[in-house]
Amino acid sequence: MKDLLKAFDLSTPYYNISTGQENWVGNSKKIIDIKSPVNNDCIGTIQLADNHSYKVVVSKAKEAFPIWKSMPAPQRGDIVRQFGDALRKEKENLAKLVSYEMGKSLQEGYGEVQEMIDICDFAVGLSRQLYGLQMHSERPNHRMFEQWHPLGIVGIISAFNFPVAVWAWNATLAWICGNVCVWKPSEKTPFSAMACQEIFKKILKQNALPEGISNIIIGDSDIGKLMASDYDIALISATGSTKMGKSVSQTVGKRLGKSILELGGNNAIIVTQEADLDIAVPAIVFGAVGTAGQRCTSTRRLIVHKSCYQNLLDKLIHAYKQLRIGNPLNEKNHVGPLIDVDAVNDYLKTIEEAQKQGGNLVYGNNVLKGEAFKSNCYVMPTIIEAHSNMSIVRHETFAPILYVFSYDTLDEAIFIQNNVPQGLSSSIFTQNMQQVETFLSNSGSDCGIANVNIGTSGAEIGGAFGGEKETGGGRESGSDSWKAYMRRQTCTVNYGKNAHLAQGIVFNL
Ligand code: NAD
Repeated sequence: MKDLLKAFDLSTPYYNISTGQENWVGNSKKIIDIKSPVNNDCIGTIQLADNHSYKVVVSKAKEAFPIWKSMPAPQRGDIVRQFGDALRKEKENLAKLVSYEMGKSLQEGYGEVQEMIDICDFAVGLSRQLYGLQMHSERPNHRMFEQWHPLGIVGIISAFNFPVAVWAWNATLAWICGNVCVWKPSEKTPFSAMACQEIFKKILKQNALPEGISNIIIGDSDIGKLMASDYDIALISATGSTKMGKSVSQTVGKRLGKSILELGGNNAIIVTQEADLDIAVPAIVFGAVGTAGQRCTSTRRLIVHKSCYQNLLDKLIHAYKQLRIGNPLNEKNHVGPLIDVDAVNDYLKTIEEAQKQGGNLVYGNNVLKGEAFKSNCYVMPTIIEAHSNMSIVRHETFAPILYVFSYDTLDEAIFIQNNVPQGLSSSIFTQNMQQVETFLSNSGSDCGIANVNIGTSGAEIGGAFGGEKETGGGRESGSDSWKAYMRRQTCTVNYGKNAHLAQGIVFNL
């Protein structure tokens, strides 16, 4: 692992040293060991940033903004293209680092870096398509149109589970729109973030551009709170728990700032009596146990028609028995560790509570022991038969726990699915067109993502990503999400010789 850190110029110890951008670390009293959930080894020691280092970072971003915004958008796109090319070269190393620091399988690590590459490509194309509409003016010899301008500094707060891709979704779009970024990654995964900064820093240097276009600050929630309250941050894009989102939203709201919130999910799959179980089973298993249940889009609830309930449950238990749990860097394993021992305790507490509330444990509920599991973070994916009046099923537990429900009518299934505070991702498995269209209609799923014969996790970057209700309402990545990173200006030009007021108002002097 040391070689990997060296590959990104991140040799340890990382304690109180200044490398390149000296403001990564600060003089705060908080010093933390970053331990890999894979084997409990210390990757490095980090001194968290304090208020002073935060101010230094923001001042660098401020200095860089006029330089960056004055570059034509397609030229900014070309810088992002170079970043995408560099990521292609670094894909293997970065994926390994992500897998080692966060604990996701190496395949999912590759997938995460590929997502960064994809969003770079998307952003490059977009840099020539920041279109504004032109409208027909009601006044003679007038032209009316809208144009889009950059906002300034975009603050990105990200979660541990996608330590690099979520930043790239935000940063690449923010950059081509002419903004500069200040990124506060999760304090649980700082090395993956610093590696990204190193890659982009080189691109900026090669193009004689200031590093302040991309800034990183390694801090905990105190730095996140500082960002939310800072009038210098025009837009905060925050990804994490609903608890964090509520705090950020209130603080940003107090100063009438802008925010994009990407918060917790509680995602369900409906399996009807007309589903093809051969495609449903792998999708359910990947959705529920992939990234050890630590995706915002992980499948947490399965709502199955009573006619195929027992058959599907048996197939799932059979599939769960095939799962190999262990070191995520070993590509033979399907399930890696949870991020830390706190997450393991949440897993255990949730299973206990679900059973107290009447849930029937049919598989799992075990923390693995032994040399291969010495971080104490490896748990068995778990299946619990549940009913919808159990309050625990309304909560997102960031672990591989799947609640299974039985239903009679599709209306009932949709009700169960929507009857939670969150609204991120949802799926239906069926070959019946009426069921598909009902699920996709306005009386169907209330989520930001609604899939048919595809699981809840694994979104493509081309679509707008995000969810409703307590998921926060934000949209990132594809479609027209870029508009959130710009300010819209409506312009009306009178090229005639007479003055006209709108609505035909007469005002003669
Ligand atoms: P978390 O809320 O604990 O932390 C996320 C980030 O917010 C971290 O950088 C943290 O330091 C910061 N933070 C925490 N409290 C803050 C506050 N009051 N003000 C400002 N910043 C604060 O979440 P986590 O455990 O890292 O990640 C898991 C959560 O993230 C899950 O709920 C998951 O569903 C969610 N998530 C959502 C999406 C999405 O796109 N909807 C994507 C990934 C993760």
